[in-house]
Amino acid sequence: MEKIIPYGRQWIAEEDIQAVVETLRSDWLTQGPVVEEFEAAFAEYVGAKYAIAVSNGTTALHLCTEVLWVHEGTRVITTPITFAASANCVLYSGGTVDFADIDPQTALIDIEYIRQMLETAPEGTYSGIIPVSFAGNPVDMEALYRLAREYGLWIIEDACHAPGAHFTNSKGEEVRTGSGQYADLSVFSFHPVKHIACGEGGMITTNNPYLYEKIRLLRTHGITKSKNQLQEFHGSWYYEMQELGYNYRMTDMQCALGLSQLKRAKKGVERRHEIAQKYDDAFYGMPIRTLHTTPNAHHAYHLYVVETNNRKELYDHLRSKGIYAQVHYIPVHTMPYYRKLGFRKGMFPKAEAYYEQCLSLPMFPSLTEAEQGKVINEVLYCVNQTTSKRTLQTRRLRA
Ligand SMILES: *Cc1c(COP(=O)(O)O)cnc(C)c1O
Repeated sequence: MEKIIPYGRQWIAEEDIQAVVETLRSDWLTQGPVVEEFEAAFAEYVGAKYAIAVSNGTTALHLCTEVLWVHEGTRVITTPITFAASANCVLYSGGTVDFADIDPQTALIDIEYIRQMLETAPEGTYSGIIPVSFAGNPVDMEALYRLAREYGLWIIEDACHAPGAHFTNSKGEEVRTGSGQYADLSVFSFHPVKHIACGEGGMITTNNPYLYEKIRLLRTHGITKSKNQLQEFHGSWYYEMQELGYNYRMTDMQCALGLSQLKRAKKGVERRHEIAQKYDDAFYGMPIRTLHTTPNAHHAYHLYVVETNNRKELYDHLRSKGIYAQVHYIPVHTMPYYRKLGFRKGMFPKAEAYYEQCLSLPMFPSLTEAEQGKVINEVLYCVNQTTSKRTLQTRRLRA
């Protein structure tokens, strides 16, 4: 049996295994000292003041919509080209989701489309925006932030694809994804296909001390023992439940795995760039398209997406060769659940056209040169075959 090449894969080294084993020998299994260590190291990595580790990226998003007081009647804008959780979190909190179509060059949410929505809706219609740094390509957060503030909207940056990304703002400063400079809150995931794999895990970063404290409270049932938060004090056993919170904790075992991998995160992004460059070079001038990167941006390459009119043929061909490419994403508004909420096919034509053509090729740091060579050969073989077949057909039709 040939070895399967997936589109993404975790990168676990011996030192990661050792780090987890150490926590198993310690006094802590769930939230303990390693959680705080991981939070501090992650905050430093993305350049934010505060970081809060939670059970996964989805619960991270949910805590964000809770703390920003999404409730019945709150309308929030996100992109249809994302994982469903970016939109679902608004529904969890009782709010309403609206979508903005994408920029077909990048597949990122189209800021001009959002501007149109805000200009044409009655004042106060929308409360917030959830942009997604799709594939690891940072959204122009400076432009989006300016627009959001003009209309009094908050921003939750879904940065699950983009730890290690950055872009240069109009002042020439390097702005890291998740740094909180142009977002109220940013969210990351440590699912195995993401940059840092903890099995399950998530992180929220922010520069806002009020949001930070409130999210920490909501992460553990809304319960506090902290003297400066307590309304009364009866003795050292005493605690108060002050908010309706959740159990969204991340464990010390998971954080040990995260902390260990974080040390290689920068190297991982560098390796992803090498892989992307090799794909770019191989596909240059070929009958296959690639997504554009935001100007002045440093991509994190969670995904490497190609677009072709023969997506199904390409997917099937690669699959038959043991290369498991994947489609990211089926537009959220076309999902049966969202159709029940009133969304229909045809509403966001650019997102839907993108979906018909997109395919994510294998992209992960441990992809070997030989494996990538095989992927490139099979992609080129297939697209050259299908395009020459089509040309032949049109020639025959003309004759
Ligand atoms: C993975 C992902 C999430 C959800 O993260 P989980 O840790 O799987 O809950 C949310 N948004 C985007 C864009 C993602 O890729």
